Amino acid sequence: MKEIEYAAAHSVDEAVGLLAARGEKARILAGGTDILVQLREGLRDADLIVDIKKIPELMNLSFSAAQGLHLGASVPCYRIYRDPAVASAYPALADAARIIGGWQIQSRGSIGGNLCNSSPAADSIPALIALDAKCLIAGPDGRRSVPVAEFCTSPGRNVLKRGELLVALEFAAPTKHEGSRYLRFIPRNEMDIAVVGAGAWLRLNAKGDTIEAARLGLAAVAPKPLAAIDVASWLVGKPATAETFTEAGNRARLLAKPISDMRAPAEYRLHIVGVMTARALTGAAERARGVHVGHSPNGKKY
Ligand SMILES: Cc1cc2nc3c(=O)[nH]c(=O)nc-3n(C[C@H](O)[C@H](O)[C@H](O)COP(=O)(O)OP(=O)(O)OC[C@H]3O[C@@H](n4cnc5c(N)ncnc54)[C@H](O)[C@@H]3O)c2cc1C
Repeated sequence: MKEIEYAAAHSVDEAVGLLAARGEKARILAGGTDILVQLREGLRDADLIVDIKKIPELMNLSFSAAQGLHLGASVPCYRIYRDPAVASAYPALADAARIIGGWQIQSRGSIGGNLCNSSPAADSIPALIALDAKCLIAGPDGRRSVPVAEFCTSPGRNVLKRGELLVALEFAAPTKHEGSRYLRFIPRNEMDIAVVGAGAWLRLNAKGDTIEAARLGLAAVAPKPLAAIDVASWLVGKPATAETFTEAGNRARLLAKPISDMRAPAEYRLHIVGVMTARALTGAAERARGVHVGHSPNGKKY
């Protein structure tokens, strides 16, 4: 590994200044669980790494049932699933945070880093799409907001321009009768990359039998994480039944354009995306009805 300069920014403006001055030669360091591996293996090049974990705004997690969630880009994953109020309001986000690597990775790695790494197989992105999270971005021209669904552009690439960084992810306040679920399929139980990931969000009517609103995010089935808008709009007004969710899975297969790689052939991914979509929707519907689905490592239900 070549020698690389290190600078710790203490404010968003300072980080923007460092990044804008050095352009492509500067890389952001959040938890470092992706970037340090990539630099060591020569997959990325940098003369300067800008540590953003000392910027209070990026480490701030604030939630209120009325205002929603403001999740600083560098907040490590464990703070999400260890917070009962956040895990209960945004269960798909907690599902994703608790399966990214093991506890060591979750102690360092952030949701912001997972999103900015922009892997087609990233675990947090389908959940963020399902929850309709917005990216708060800062750069030399000020601040802007971009929906997560529009953030990734191709494998490892996103809409961030020179000098820009992700400051936070913003989530609307939870509403009544909604539920969400993220699930992935992996060949072994721990520390592997998703063969397919599916994040679902549903709002049901007060009786819990009809879908009023839906969102679906998919990973590892296209060059970037997919917002399955056609499937989501088809779901609206349908009964929240196993038949509906199976048919939604069939429709998700039509959107998927998977590759074959060492983890799975494309045909297998096409089959699995249907299964995972149906299961994620089923879990989201159960949670919308107040049924406990899944578990948290601290034993608290969400
Ligand atoms: C053993 C192991 C297991 C893993 N398991 C999983 C897994 O199961 N699922 C999964 O999805 N990933 C997994 N990963 C990948 C990685 O841990 C996650 O992507 C993690 O969430 C990245 O967060 P980070 O804070 O460490 O990001 P970093 O490595 O610090 O940064 C990642 C990338 O994003 C950029 N970046 C970071 N923050 C910002 C910002 N605020 N603004 C702009 N750019 C930014 C960096 O420059 C870099 O390019 C694993 C990694 C390892 C080493």
